[in-house]
Parts: sequence; structure tokens; C-alpha cells
Amino acid sequence: PLVLGIETSCDETGVGVVRGHTLLADAVASSVDAHARYGGVVPEIASRAHLEAMIPTVERALKEAGVAASDLDGVAVTAGPGLAGALLVGVSAAKAYAYALGKPLYGVNHLASHICVDQLEHGPLPEPTMALLVSGGHSSLLLAPDITSDVRPLGATIDDAAGEAFDKIARVLHLGFPGGPVIDRYAREGDRDAIAFPRGLTGPRDAPYDFSFSGLKTAVARWIEARRNAGEEVPVADVAASFQEAVADVLTRKAVRACRDEGVDHLMIGGGVAANSRLRALAEERCAAAGITLRVPRPKLCTDNGAMVAALGAEMIARGRPASGWDLPADSSLPVTEPHVPAPEPV
Ligand code: ATP
Ligand code: MG
Ligand code: FE
Repeated sequence: PLVLGIETSCDETGVGVVRGHTLLADAVASSVDAHARYGGVVPEIASRAHLEAMIPTVERALKEAGVAASDLDGVAVTAGPGLAGALLVGVSAAKAYAYALGKPLYGVNHLASHICVDQLEHGPLPEPTMALLVSGGHSSLLLAPDITSDVRPLGATIDDAAGEAFDKIARVLHLGFPGGPVIDRYAREGDRDAIAFPRGLTGPRDAPYDFSFSGLKTAVARWIEARRNAGEEVPVADVAASFQEAVADVLTRKAVRACRDEGVDHLMIGGGVAANSRLRALAEERCAAAGITLRVPRPKLCTDNGAMVAALGAEMIARGRPASGWDLPADSSLPVTEPHVPAPEPV
């Protein structure tokens, strides 16, 4: 199926076009620069930016794909989770396009989309798929027997998300926002064994698949503060590399363990933090050692984009899932266990 996907859950206006597992277009307009001076995403600014970028980005995606809107088999959109006002812009736009074109509408889950996008890179997902989802708002281990209908959480962060930790540490180091890419860059020049930062929830009695990054964040902030108070220079590259190592170590250790425990021989990593170069390298190393096939999309498909939404929409159509209704709501806290929002059954 030929599907247009619209993503507006945070600060990226993403519009993608896919045909089945083939990526045809991936247009992204980001309002990240408008938020930078506030040190985080400002919801009102994001919503307004989506509104302004929507039509040009849809037109750019259709042109890039070389398809006519009338050839589409459906329009998919992120229904949640995310910022309510931002989601609403995408959902409204998707309804308008789908209704005007006479095509079915599919409201899909942003988190399931972060997983499904790998079909564009590596073909059909294995079933079940073991997925490590690491992004700005989420860090979970998920087992998905069917990405369109059955996603089961094995564990999740009990405090901060991995991406949130990157963003906070970047702020403490005065490196700007978003923190992930810049920490990744500094870490390349640093020594990842320079400082032994704590690995949260890795004790023998801790929940095996849960994560905690708040203690790590505090430990890094204290370490930096002690240096500053002593009038010493902060070795930014070493701090970045050591912090990043602590995150990548825990994520990969637990993901490999989950694969082993569940008897799954594949691991998918998705979400913005999956763009991290050290996480990718360490996952590659540890999966190879454990006989696990690693699937990670190219970095541009890991951060928010519309192609991932189109990919999940195409899978919904391929599997004959029911479309959404014209009253599809934007649900800021749509649970990961609901990959899409079908129209309510008639009573
Ligand atoms: P969610 O998907 O949970 O709703 P989101 O959509 O805001 O959150 P994504 O775009 O999926 O998040 O990911 C953004 C996060 O990824 C940010 O926290 C950012 O710092 C982080 N990130 C991006 N690139 C990298 C990188 N190279 N290394 C580490 N983190 C990164
Ligand atoms: Mg973003
Ligand atoms: Fe995301």
C-alpha cells in the first residue's frame, strides 16, 4: 500500500511516503532552533510551527516521492503519545487530507512507529520483535508479537528517559539543546573509562528490565559541580564519554538479557537515542557476542519523522486493520500497548 504519514508529536513536522516496506520520501521541518534559547521544547511554539510547516512539508514529501495524492491508499498520523496541542495539528491535517481525498485514516502510536520504521531499512520485522525503545520521553523494553496489534512492555524507566538524561547533562555542561547529538560528538574525543559513573538498577535484586537514569544524572551533575567548586576545569569530552558509556552499557546489557530470557534472536533499537554512535557500536558488539541479530535504522529514521508513521500505517493496511473514525482524538498519553486507534465499534 502507498501511504502518507504525518508526525507532529513534538517539535518535528515530519511527512513521509512509503509503499509497503519501501521508503519513497522523508520530509522533516524542525522547530528545534526556535526552542533552543528556552532549553527545551515550548509546546505553544511547537504547535504554531507545525501549523506553518504542514502544507509545505506535505507537498515536499509528495513531490519527493513522485506520487499524486490521489494515488494514496491511506493517510496515517501520530495520534499519540506526545504534546496535546502539537498532536492536534497533525491529526486535524490528516483528517482533512484523508477526507478530501476519500482515503482511509489511520491514527497510529508514535512509539510503535519508532519500531515499525525498521521495516523500511531491514524488511519485515521478525515476530515476535524484541525492541529497545529509547527516546526523549520513553525508555522501554518491548516484546511485540505483532507490531500492529500486540505490543507488550517488559520493563521501562522508573524515572528519566535516556534522551532526557542526555538533554539534562548537556544543559549542566552548557552545551545547548537537544543534548544527545552534541554529547555524542564530544564523547568521540573523550575517554569513556575516565570516570566510573553508576549503572542504575543493575544489582542482583533489581528489576531486570527496568531502567533508572536519575541517579546517574545526579552523579554526573555532582561530579561536575565538585570540579567547578574546586576551581578546576571540567573535562567535557571525558564526562560526555563516561556518561554516554554508562547509558549505553545499561541499555545494551538489559536488552541482550531480555533477548536471551525470551529466546528471541533479534534486537531492534528505535527512538531518538538509537541515533547514538556509542549505543550502536556497543549493541553491535554485544549482540554479535550473544548470537543476536541487531536491527537499528539509519540515524535519520531513529529521530522523529513521518516515514515511520507511514510505515506503521502501511502495515495496518497490509494486515487489514480497521481504519480510524473521523472523530479520531489526539491522545497525549496513548499507551504503548495500543499500536493504533480504530474507529469505535457501532453499538
Ligand atoms: P518520544 O519518542 O518519547 O515521544 P521524542 O519524540 O521527543 O520523544 P525522539 O525524537 O524520538 O524523541 O528523540 C529525541 C531524543 O533523542 C532527545 O532527547 C535527543 O537528545 C536524543 N538524541 C538524538 N540524537 C541522539 C544521539 N546521537 N545520542 C543520544 N541521544 C540522542
Ligand atoms: Mg525532536
Ligand atoms: Fe519520538
